[in-house]
This record gives sequence, structure tokens and C-alpha cells, in this order.
Amino acid sequence: MMESKRCAACGQAFRPRPQVPQQCYCPAPACQRERRRSWQLAKRQSDPDYHDNQARAQRAWHKRNPDFWREYRRTHPQYRERNRAQQRERNDRRRERLIAKMDVSMVEQTNGQDVLNLVLARGYLAKLLENKQVVRYLKQRQPEVLAEFETIVQTVSLEQ
Ligand SMILES: [Zn+2]
Repeated sequence: MMESKRCAACGQAFRPRPQVPQQCYCPAPACQRERRRSWQLAKRQSDPDYHDNQARAQRAWHKRNPDFWREYRRTHPQYRERNRAQQRERNDRRRERLIAKMDVSMVEQTNGQDVLNLVLARGYLAKLLENKQVVRYLKQRQPEVLAEFETIVQTVSLEQ
């Protein structure tokens, strides 16, 4: 006489069939469905070929039943709404990533332009401050401006 076991799905005691001593699920149809489902799941996770075949079978099935998803979406507004919300979220995230990227490139561009302007301005100011009359004029009338100009001209490295 075989020991009785507890079904892995419903938890009820059952007697394994003598041919299948390691049986884990009772014969109830729901529990047998559960057994097949968990077997498929394990198989799908461990066997890439099986996964491939499943995907192919699914595509073939969709080809034979092109109206299924249309009909499903039509009759399941919640599913449709959830799909739409998920799509919206994906779009939002993509837009955010794009904007972030654009911001970075904008900063890089304007920074490049600023550095160029500064280099040109410094060259121009250096020339200007070689003119003794200009320096004398600024010293008398705009000493703060002269100090600023000198600071800019003396700035050795722009990377600092
Ligand atoms: Zn069961």
C-alpha cells in the first residue's frame, strides 16, 4: 500500500498512483492543470529551445487568430486602459531621457561658445591694455573696470 501524500496545489491528502510514486499533485483537474503550468514555467526558465518554441507557437497562434487581441482589447477596457497607461509612462520616460540629453548637449554647446568668447575677449583686452593712454584713462575714470580687465587678461587657464 502506497503512503498517502499532500497535494502540492490544494494541500489535500491523496494516494500517488503506483506507476508514479513521486507524484506531487492529486488527480483533481485543477491540480493537474497547476502541475502542467508549473512544469511549463520551470521548463521555460531552464530551456531556451523550449522558450523559443513557445514564442513561435504563440506567434503562429496569433497568425491563425488575428482578431483575438483586437476582440480582447475591445471587451477588456481595464486591460486597454492599463496598456495605455504603461505606454504613456514609457513615452514620458523616453521624453525625460531625451530632454536630459539635450540639456547636457546645450550646456556643452553654450560652454564651448562661452569659452571661445572669453578667449577672444581676453585677446582683445590684452591688446587694449597695451595702450598706455587707455590704461591711464581707465585708471582715472573707471578703476574697477581696469581691475576687472586686468584680472581677465591675467587668467592663465580657462579650465580653472
Ligand atoms: Zn490537489
